[in-house]
Amino acid sequence: MLTKRKPARAAAPVPVPAPAASGEVSRRAFLEGVGLAGASLAALGALPGAMVTEAKADALVATEEKQLKKGICTHCSVGCTVVGEIQNGVWVQQEPGWDSPISQGTHCAKGASVRELTKGERRVKYPLKLVDGEWQRISWDQAIEEVGDRLLRIRSELGPDSVFWLGSAKFSNETAYLLRKFAAFWGTNNVDHQARICHSTTVAGVANTWGYGAMTNSYNDIQNSKCLVIIGGNPAEAHPVAMQHMLRGKERNRAPFIVIDPRFTRTAAHATEYVRIRPGTDIPVVWGILWHIFENGWEDKQYIAQRVFGMDEVRAEVAKWTPDVVEEVSGAPAEQLRLVAEQMAKNRPSTLIWCMGATQKTVGTANVRAFSILQLALGNIGVQGGGANIYRGHCNVQGATDMGLDVTSLPSYYGLTEGAWKHWSRVWDVSYDAMMDRFGLADMPREEKKKLMELKGIPTTRWFDGVLAEDDELDQPNQIRGMVVLGHGGNTVTRMPDMLKGMEKLDTLVVIDPHPTTFAAVRQRRNGTYILPSCTQFETDGSRVCSNRSIQWSQKFVEPIFESKDDYTILYKLAVKLGFAEDLFKHIKVEGERPLPEDITREINRGALSTGYTGSSPERLKLHMVYQHTFDRITMQATSGPLKGEYYGLPWPCWGYPEWRHPGSPVLYDTSKHVMEGGGTFRARFGVERDGQTLLAEGSFSRGSEIEDGYPEFTMAVLKKLGWDRDLTPGELAVIQQIGGPDIDKVSWDTDLSLGIMRVAIKHGCLPYGNAKARAVAWNLPDPVPIHREPIYTSRPDLVSKYPAIENRRDFRLPHLNRGVQEAAVQADVRTKFPFVYTSGRLVEYEGGGEETRSNRWLAELQQTMFVELNNRDADELGVADGDWVWVSGPEEGRAKVKALVTERVGRGVIFMPFHFSGFWQGEDLRSAYPAGTDPHVLGEPANGITTYGYDPVTFMQETKVTLCRVERA
Ligand code: SF4
Repeated sequence: MLTKRKPARAAAPVPVPAPAASGEVSRRAFLEGVGLAGASLAALGALPGAMVTEAKADALVATEEKQLKKGICTHCSVGCTVVGEIQNGVWVQQEPGWDSPISQGTHCAKGASVRELTKGERRVKYPLKLVDGEWQRISWDQAIEEVGDRLLRIRSELGPDSVFWLGSAKFSNETAYLLRKFAAFWGTNNVDHQARICHSTTVAGVANTWGYGAMTNSYNDIQNSKCLVIIGGNPAEAHPVAMQHMLRGKERNRAPFIVIDPRFTRTAAHATEYVRIRPGTDIPVVWGILWHIFENGWEDKQYIAQRVFGMDEVRAEVAKWTPDVVEEVSGAPAEQLRLVAEQMAKNRPSTLIWCMGATQKTVGTANVRAFSILQLALGNIGVQGGGANIYRGHCNVQGATDMGLDVTSLPSYYGLTEGAWKHWSRVWDVSYDAMMDRFGLADMPREEKKKLMELKGIPTTRWFDGVLAEDDELDQPNQIRGMVVLGHGGNTVTRMPDMLKGMEKLDTLVVIDPHPTTFAAVRQRRNGTYILPSCTQFETDGSRVCSNRSIQWSQKFVEPIFESKDDYTILYKLAVKLGFAEDLFKHIKVEGERPLPEDITREINRGALSTGYTGSSPERLKLHMVYQHTFDRITMQATSGPLKGEYYGLPWPCWGYPEWRHPGSPVLYDTSKHVMEGGGTFRARFGVERDGQTLLAEGSFSRGSEIEDGYPEFTMAVLKKLGWDRDLTPGELAVIQQIGGPDIDKVSWDTDLSLGIMRVAIKHGCLPYGNAKARAVAWNLPDPVPIHREPIYTSRPDLVSKYPAIENRRDFRLPHLNRGVQEAAVQADVRTKFPFVYTSGRLVEYEGGGEETRSNRWLAELQQTMFVELNNRDADELGVADGDWVWVSGPEEGRAKVKALVTERVGRGVIFMPFHFSGFWQGEDLRSAYPAGTDPHVLGEPANGITTYGYDPVTFMQETKVTLCRVERA
């Protein structure tokens, strides 16, 4: 469709917001826009006077016809600020946010073209229904009625678990939270989102090591790093604006810039040391680096003694990975890994950066744990310039995960235990018993309902297995028969041939999205499919969390276009139809049919104690957007103005009530700061003792702590033991008594809705969550110390007997057959028939499944063809020239017809495919399957048409980075 790039044209002059020094016009306009000007400021009485006074001092007026709005780019987790000029309700100009401490006036191609989203060239314009294979326009009323009736019928016949709810990492925290709560009221844990397929293994890996499942430092803080190591990430394409901080760190500190990757990426082009490895050998490589560190005594012995549990068990495993063994298994030259180890050891603090090259693996959680242990050995966690800098994917993966849009947890990582349900039932002001009643079949005994209520759901990586499974394969009453998808592409999961079979068998499929997505645009379905047009994030408002845990409030730029509605409104309409709107919105104000996002944020503030979301009120978040210009560009701390001392976006944990003015925590586990300055310790989540050894920190504590040693998490019992319960106010004590009843001692800092236990702990300089050692040994995981396991479809079948896949097991309501599939592949000699190693990744032009960005003509023009990267010598042997069409076939059922890009970026025997394409299927053009006028400009074969079986045992993360394939001339 797009074959020629347009000639360059002079750009129209772009209005620049008033400079920060005077800044009044833009700031006042923003204050107006965020509802903080004029009368709204009075509502901020609770905030310290200085904040209010300064805001009132801005006395200029925004004109009616022209407004400047601040929003956040919706394409990646960097969180660049977009400034839009709105005239008479139309978004007419766009500027990168110069004041943003993160993006500092920069955008990549995706961010620079977001205005296209609200022009809607290829958007879904009104509700649609598929009737005998033809799309028909219907009204919103008809859509909600029919969808609701179909879902209620599935619910009454098969139970609530037979509907799968799939949410998004692109919409706001408030929508993510609302959808998780919505699923709870529907009565299922079958609710998930993209984090399952990008960083669920990171969350599991790092949370099991030191407490929280999040990036420890920030993009900006990388400027303090003395050595940068990137493994399994390509930020030059996936997080382009983050590269400015990385390159500044490299230049400022003359820091080694080490890239470890099977592919010579655009990031690797900046490396001082590029290490090419065989895909799937991250653990041997990391243990190989650690081998040199232990061998040379470069580890931080004091740090390990005080703050790490179980490093000796890691030493025993690492000892097996001598340089020659590592080189034999991974292909990484022994001398090069010694150099990497030495550079990390001699240039501290070093930062370790990873992304989906590490996480989307059958050993994803173990990879993440190995990386974390490497950083612990060097004492790099909890320090500026160090850290585990984990680049999340979409713009709100961190926030949506925090909001519990996940099959394993309620919001804020409380899990699914009885205690977790009771906590959230209290926050929602509904009875726990009534919540339980919503689960399972109507005539089920209570204990069965309780079991389902506390059982992890079926994750998005395997929803179609939940459709196709035989009765005895599934740990829930019935198979999935309905699916509701909000803001999620259909080509993002592996094993697409199986996924299509699952789609065919669904009774009802509802796609709620600005674009039809791959889910809607396949030929398998003829009836029972609906598309409801939701608007983009620039047509609504709410908060989102960048990778570094900073929370940014994005303003509504324009009203939803065509007949689209925002997600809040759609969920409200659906909840009314399904009969639980009254309970769902009990403490959330609904204006007309639109729940107010600010009220949802306040409910999050009330309940999400465990991640410290309590202090980040909507008013504070909005002020951070207004006063962006006052934040330092490296520390992200405000150096002047009303927010002086606070960190940009109040990176969580942000303790206490907003009035406490906790500044946020820029670096997790940083003992050099007082808890009220954002300091921290490792979290005590796993008890106080193991095998006779303490799990609590020894002689290490955060600045100002009255307990100068480790301590457990704070409960009422701990307060009593310390005699600190006397510091509780009568009001706080009354709430704690009401929550605990006869078990008052068990009330903990994260279930005490008075925040009294949190307040008292902090008053004494302590972290409410305790002060423990990080765990080098995580005894609750399948591999307590990470061990290498060969990929399921491996290019080295000779290594399988020594490093086999994990044994067959069950989890997430399904069988898990890594070992069985691997053994069958070895026996069938798949390696010989499929001689290439397949890996995949991102392109700078597109995002995720790509339907949205491939519908953007500016981006579409930049990358018009799906391709496979093939090494020059391999291409010669196959007789393939650059630009030739080839078939790439996988060992299960998949195959794809794509263009060859002949390049040295990939090594011999390895091919690379980007995963943003869909709209072709095994050579067939599906353009006509899209509703008229909604087909993206660029279509192509989905990379996941080829990918194969394989799941991480802890999270069911899919394997997208290593399988086998065959390449032939088409
Ligand atoms: Fe910034 Fe990421 Fe958007 Fe690019 S895609 S402008 S790096 S937020």
